[in-house]
Amino acid sequence: MKKLLPDIPSDEEINRKLQEIERMITYKELLSGHVLSDVPIAHQQHLEDLLIKVNKLRAEWGKPLIVTSGYRSMQDHLRIYHAKGIIDPSKIPMQSKHLSGDACDFSDPDGSLYKWAFENQDKLAEWELWCEKDTKGWLHVQRLPPKSGNRFFVP
Ligand SMILES: [Zn+2]
Repeated sequence: MKKLLPDIPSDEEINRKLQEIERMITYKELLSGHVLSDVPIAHQQHLEDLLIKVNKLRAEWGKPLIVTSGYRSMQDHLRIYHAKGIIDPSKIPMQSKHLSGDACDFSDPDGSLYKWAFENQDKLAEWELWCEKDTKGWLHVQRLPPKSGNRFFVP
């Protein structure tokens, strides 16, 4: 007999899928490998606020999000730029919001997250989040406004 319907997924499979869909962004992910005790109290407070705000975005987005870069120490920051071949300190943005626990990047390989965020600027305003403009492959989100005040800004 010809099979008309695909096999019924097991409860375990469904639960695994549901857990993945419902999984919120964790503090650990925002810490990006740092130990909380090494993070200054002020930065911890920023991260706590960021965590709540990005999870509002996460809930509305409705799909898993991967943090590619969260909190950065100055050492991490310099390493990231040095790896890109940028050594000149005047070419390295020292005001990066990653350094103070105010920003994180999400993986966005197909640009769908960026597009969605760009189309939902009213939501970003409600959550008090700002994004870098024209990023390709990731979405930078921060809890503080840039100098321009633009929801999507050129860093
Ligand atoms: Zn970023």
